Amino acid sequence: MMAQYLEIKAAHADALLFYRMGDFYEMFFDDAVAAAQALDIALTKRGKHDGDDIPMCGVPVHAAEGYLLTLIRKGFRVAVCEQLESPAEAKKRGSKSVVKRDVVRLVTPGTLTEDALLEARRHNFLAAFANVRDTFALAWTDISTGAFHVVALPAVRLGPELARLAPSELVVADTPEAPYELAEDLGIALTPIGRSSFDSTGAEKRLCALFQVATLESFGSFDRAEVSALGALVEYLDMTQKGKLPLLQPPRKEAQNRVVQIDAATRRNLELTRSLSGTRDGSLLSVIDRTVTPGGARMLDQRLSSPTRDLETVQSRLAALDFARDNARIAADLREALRKAPDLDRALSRLALDRGGPRDLAAIRAALTQADHLNTRLSSLAPPELLASAAADLTGFEDLLALLDAALVADPPLMVRDGGFIARGFDPELDETTDLRDQGRGVIAQMQSRYAEQTGISSLKIKHNNVLGYFIETTATHAPKMLSAPLSETYIHRQTTANQVRFTTVELSELETKILNAGNRALELEKRLYERLRSEILGHAPRIHTAARALAEIDLATALADLSISENWCRPIVDTSRSFEITGGRHPVVERALKRDGGTGFVANDCTLNASDGAAIWLLTGPNMAGKSTFLRQNALIAVLAQIGSYVPADHAHIGMISQLFSRVGASDDLARGRSTFMVEMVETAAILNQADDRALVILDEIGRGTATYDGLSIAWATLEHLNETNRTRALFATHYHELTTLATKLDGVENATVAVKEWQGEVIFLHEVRKGAADRSYGVQVAQLAGLPDSVVARARVVLEALEKGEREGGNRQKALIDDLPLFAAAPPPPPPVVTAKSPVDDLLATIHPDELSPRDALDLLYKLKEAS
Ligand code: ADP
Repeated sequence: MMAQYLEIKAAHADALLFYRMGDFYEMFFDDAVAAAQALDIALTKRGKHDGDDIPMCGVPVHAAEGYLLTLIRKGFRVAVCEQLESPAEAKKRGSKSVVKRDVVRLVTPGTLTEDALLEARRHNFLAAFANVRDTFALAWTDISTGAFHVVALPAVRLGPELARLAPSELVVADTPEAPYELAEDLGIALTPIGRSSFDSTGAEKRLCALFQVATLESFGSFDRAEVSALGALVEYLDMTQKGKLPLLQPPRKEAQNRVVQIDAATRRNLELTRSLSGTRDGSLLSVIDRTVTPGGARMLDQRLSSPTRDLETVQSRLAALDFARDNARIAADLREALRKAPDLDRALSRLALDRGGPRDLAAIRAALTQADHLNTRLSSLAPPELLASAAADLTGFEDLLALLDAALVADPPLMVRDGGFIARGFDPELDETTDLRDQGRGVIAQMQSRYAEQTGISSLKIKHNNVLGYFIETTATHAPKMLSAPLSETYIHRQTTANQVRFTTVELSELETKILNAGNRALELEKRLYERLRSEILGHAPRIHTAARALAEIDLATALADLSISENWCRPIVDTSRSFEITGGRHPVVERALKRDGGTGFVANDCTLNASDGAAIWLLTGPNMAGKSTFLRQNALIAVLAQIGSYVPADHAHIGMISQLFSRVGASDDLARGRSTFMVEMVETAAILNQADDRALVILDEIGRGTATYDGLSIAWATLEHLNETNRTRALFATHYHELTTLATKLDGVENATVAVKEWQGEVIFLHEVRKGAADRSYGVQVAQLAGLPDSVVARARVVLEALEKGEREGGNRQKALIDDLPLFAAAPPPPPPVVTAKSPVDDLLATIHPDELSPRDALDLLYKLKEAS
């Protein structure tokens, strides 16, 4: 057995080997050590190899999914090795034969299909990146939908594209240039595979064979890098699924300029689909997601990650929302039906990979039933195009539905081997066989009463267990009677336990064989019927995928309509102008948080860039905590929401479509990569200045903060000028450098705005109101005081500030002002020592008390005494 193990393991060196032994998956050697630690399970030993103990650990097969999930999350790949025959079969081949085993599947992050291992509301993408003589392409698939895409891109766009798709696994050629660092940064599992898998000639052959076409031209024109990436994906699926390919759709080529370009850092800053801490909670997605199906939720996640640049798409989605808003009762009805529709895509993918069961058949039936209902409801109303075409995609399943309805029971079991999922009346042969099996069980009941009568033992029972099968049981008291003639002639002794004696009869074992045969035959028949239903469904697969998409589309439209009504959002005017005019804009996530905390509520703000007379850039000043970042982000989020075709959190919004979105927020240190805050910030700023076009929206928060004042100020100044004159973008630029506000007066395209605060009795009050004009001062000292800096430090800071300002007003040198005019810091009054007072008579009295020894009466007396003494 060890020889077999080592041979299989050698073929899967980069994965943990789950080696099936009976009811367990066992792991050995280093695999066992790693898995025991990762899973927190016991590490034991079994036998010896080359004189050393063999470490071993195992997990029960029935609980394997949970362990698999943990291992995948921790970055392992798992090769699942099954027994391909029963021990009895192995014995037939020879008394020493080891049960045949082989790996049936490689479990990796990008190739999961089990519901328990997947997030229902997120896509799980597998991607491959190819480089053919310095042209590059990225291909990706979601094996649960069969979506299969490829995009050609320059190497520098790999990071942003990966950030957009967030695949869980990236397959690359095994070369030293593989993007290890990038994958690690983005939390993507990187899988290097042999370079030959990326060979484009082989890839083309593989793809043509898979889609049964003579040439790939049938699907569009693909360059060598694109073919290579697509082919490598198919090869990898073949490797991991051991020949069982998911239902891939023909490859679709995506254009780079189809979606708004958003790089990884901007996504992170804006917390579009993940919050800064990496969870869905706290992201824009979590606040706007009202979808009721997993498919709808996945679609929203995708749209939010890839806002479109196609005006028609936006308009048609908005029209669908309008329809849902205008027909609220019908929309509610549609949502009710959607709630009852299970996840079509994922059920279908399990059936395709032969990992499904009767419940997946039932899921398809339930979803298609709802699809039919939705179609009837929608098509009677002449909805706008998007919904009309979705409704049309939900039709044409009558025959399949009729078949599934007739074939399946209402609530089938999970596994085929459990049996009992085919409805009565569907297959006469099956009905006959199950009747035989069930009648047999009835006959046993009759037999029991006949035997009780015959033996005169009224407590005699016929029972069943897995070891003996059916047997007759009496208590030990009756044993002598049963074991002697004449009863012993009929009743054959089988087993004696502490209190019972067990028998059988020829009649009983014959009946048992009949029941058993009928049961096995019934299961056999059910298996065959399952296969028939499965292949019927797979025959409809492309149309079922389309229907799944249609359901998601309807879900998303009604969900966004619901959101817009309850949150009082407005319909944005979207066009191809360069306008950006928002009245009464809000930040949906901050607003939600404020509502939850029951505070004073969110203060809505306007933002008008490029209005007929206005500037394209706003320079925003105001103290810390005033709400600058919130304002900056809310405007970016409103643009994103408008371009996914949603209503937006504002009273009025007019948005000329944006092509790129950049956001740079006072960077945090990236120590892991050995770059300082300032370096990161400058690298990111450089990227914006080099890339932003006149359709971009740029959001810069506190640029230049990470260096000396004058350096920072100069960089911020030059950046602002460049954005205005060269990039000609729409931009919001928040800064604490007040000196910059004078720039606005000099540059045509730049205007000052400030977040208002009020000063009251030396303290600042934040109004969160954005107004035109520059902030008068920064209120840094007041904010520091609010944060709880010791009074002495705050007082001292005021003195220093005053001196500095005075020095500057008088044209003096700052340092000179500090040294000459200020008393040394040590001279500031030290904090007062803690007050120590003499002990009072009350204290003395208290010191004498032992509360446990006091009676209630004494305690009362004591209280009077204390009062007197005080
Ligand atoms: P800044 O960037 O100016 O330091 P932030 O944007 O981080 O300030 O805002 C600080 C806090 O003020 C936020 O956490 C939020 O609670 C509150 N806030 C910001 N904007 C608003 C607003 N428009 N209405 C109400 N509260 C706001």
